[in-house]
Amino acid sequence: MKKTIGIDLGTTNSVAAIKKVHTEVIKNSEGEQITPSCVTVRKKAMRAPEFIVGRNALEWLQQEPENTITAVKRLMGRNFNDSEVQELIAGHGLRYKITSHSKGSTNSLAIHAAGKEFTPDEISSKILEKIKNDAEATLGDEVDTAVITVPAYFNDKQKHRTRTAAALAGLKVSRLLPEPTAAAISFGVDTVSGDEGCTVLVFDFGGGTLDLSILTISGGQIIEMGKGGDMWLGGEDIDSLIIDHVLAETAREEEIDDIHSLIENQELSRKNRFLAELKSSVEKSKIALSDRTETFIEIFGLLLDEDGDAFDIEVELKREQFDAMLAPMLASMVRLVRDVISGVHFTDDLIDNILLVGGSSRIPAVIKALQDEFGEKKVLLHDRPMLAIAEGAAILSHRLGDVVECPGCGGEVAREKDICPHCGFDVDAHMVDKGLIDIVHTVAHDYYITLENDERFLLVEKNTPLPCSSTEVFQLINVEQELVHMKFHNVVNDKEESIGDLWLGIDDTDVLDEVEKIPQLEITLSIDENNLVSVEASLLEYPSVGISGTLSRGKADEKLFLSLEQSINDANKKGYDEFVVIDLLRRTRSILHTIRGVVDSVTGEVDESLYKQAEAKITKAVIIAESGETTYTKIYYAEAMIDSYGMLISPALKTRISKRIETLRNVDDDGSYDQTIKEQQKLADILNEPDLDWVHLLMTIEKAVEICHKTDKIKAAQFGSAIDKLIHLLMKGEESVAMEELLQKTMPEVNKVLDAQDRAGMEIHTDLRK
Ligand code: AMP
Repeated sequence: MKKTIGIDLGTTNSVAAIKKVHTEVIKNSEGEQITPSCVTVRKKAMRAPEFIVGRNALEWLQQEPENTITAVKRLMGRNFNDSEVQELIAGHGLRYKITSHSKGSTNSLAIHAAGKEFTPDEISSKILEKIKNDAEATLGDEVDTAVITVPAYFNDKQKHRTRTAAALAGLKVSRLLPEPTAAAISFGVDTVSGDEGCTVLVFDFGGGTLDLSILTISGGQIIEMGKGGDMWLGGEDIDSLIIDHVLAETAREEEIDDIHSLIENQELSRKNRFLAELKSSVEKSKIALSDRTETFIEIFGLLLDEDGDAFDIEVELKREQFDAMLAPMLASMVRLVRDVISGVHFTDDLIDNILLVGGSSRIPAVIKALQDEFGEKKVLLHDRPMLAIAEGAAILSHRLGDVVECPGCGGEVAREKDICPHCGFDVDAHMVDKGLIDIVHTVAHDYYITLENDERFLLVEKNTPLPCSSTEVFQLINVEQELVHMKFHNVVNDKEESIGDLWLGIDDTDVLDEVEKIPQLEITLSIDENNLVSVEASLLEYPSVGISGTLSRGKADEKLFLSLEQSINDANKKGYDEFVVIDLLRRTRSILHTIRGVVDSVTGEVDESLYKQAEAKITKAVIIAESGETTYTKIYYAEAMIDSYGMLISPALKTRISKRIETLRNVDDDGSYDQTIKEQQKLADILNEPDLDWVHLLMTIEKAVEICHKTDKIKAAQFGSAIDKLIHLLMKGEESVAMEELLQKTMPEVNKVLDAQDRAGMEIHTDLRK
């Protein structure tokens, strides 16, 4: 039977667990419960690179730090220009290279390893892949589904990227579960039933982050009340404090003026080996200090002094020294806990327990600081703090599976059954006792859409329970508007963060012809239990004209959308005339169609050839608009000639025109700029043949009819009847005096109308208003 498991995909370590009757952590292929979240990419001659994951990758960290990726979770869903990422680059923590992705916008992010670019999702998927494969080997069954935990502060994009990583690893995600909720479940808070509600503060202090969450458990629901913490504070920072101490002590003992330069100047492989050894020895000592009162950090014969002689590092670290070192960090940690409590307007007595999980919460000084502040009884340390989150995820994955465990006899009961087939226990009546509780998550931020003049419209408010959706009707700016650019954003910590764009091309010319009043667009923004955002938009009066999908932010199509937006802004600045604008709009719709296929909506994989095609189409649209050599107005004109006055054109000439139109259309879609111009000329040459002189004249009068329809209905009717009379006379096959007279009377009027027509630039509208 296929299995479903729980995965704690951590910054430093990852853990997998499964719940059968009891919850068990699944050992990896190295026989360990914890898999370091570390990936080494190894170049292979003539072959795809090899990925080494976990403990073995940590070993490569010494030899190939530039190809070994640690803490990829910090980069998930992040942009290269994010201050957090820039901070990471500027700090000393990052030994591999990151840049913006060559296939993405300046905001995208690529990790460089073994001479290739990888997205954080791709690297993260390698960790998940190992967990899946190892779990399958250990369990002897296929593992196809998982509950994966994510930090409570992950935004939609970061969650989406986690889903993508799972999809790339071949795992279905049955739920993305906030880590604090998983921790609370592993403490058994779900056994609280009926009216006995309780409120807990989950204190998750891991390798990279401090994650705080207040959860209320009541009536079979877990409700997130508030969250906080510091995503840049964890065990690694504690290691750095000890490293600084060890280096300062060594410098003092060995009388070295500048120990950092000394390390920097060691031969590269020696330096890397030393730094890795230092880190590992410091971490071991830190862990040892949780159970002992003193420890030693020792590294023998690795560093060379200025004369090239090896010397040893031997530094003693006592618990009191360590506690003193930690004091400022502990103070800010307590402040962060206070901030979360006051953020939800709670007092301490409303918090029943502070639940400690994460490896760093084992540190006695951490436990003591919390006990001193909130009272000894309130603070509970998990028995297995580093495994708690995976265990919580496993419990939920089990509940979400097809079978549940009977509270009466412990046997398996199909989920849809009310009564246990083994012991007759009324499973349905004991939903809460059995632990089948609902987890209610809420929206973490406000969601806005940007309207005309940069106005913001609130679509979904923070703290709305998930899943939720909001439907609003907006108006286009203009009756003839053919493009709508919907831009969405969040407000996170008072800062606007774009969550992506969606474009609608209204290419149903029948609709536009019919429309008399400004069309209305109905937009529905939905957020599911996993915080995944999707948008549906359609014209209220013409529901078939619409678009739906997830948003583009940070994906390869974002860069294409940005250049498209740029080309439209430029066109508006230059004020192109109507013909150019019509042509550009037609091209834009075709470009949007191409862009839509660029990113696979499930795996996020990029179709390179479509990406290039879209890029080329945008460049061509810009050149054609600048040159004024429009294709589509020429095609529309030729088609309109045949449609309206085909009876005046010989069948042979009609066939030649149709063939030219077809070739021009194909070349315009796929060909180069030069080929397009050449084909345009060939069509123009046929249309210039003398046999079509009369038809051009009729087309000119028809243009005047079109203009007068809006401004002078009587004149429109007069021109219309002139067209009918002319056709009638032309069909008779002779050019008569009556025709001459009619033309002499009509044409000066027609020319007056056409000359008066405002040929000033036409603006391309893409906005909405409420
Ligand atoms: P986690 O992110 O929950 O896997 O926690 C990993 C972090 O916990 C690493 O920084 C470890 O060094 C740290 N850690 C693990 N065990 C202990 C311990 N007994 N005492 C102090 N820190 C620990």
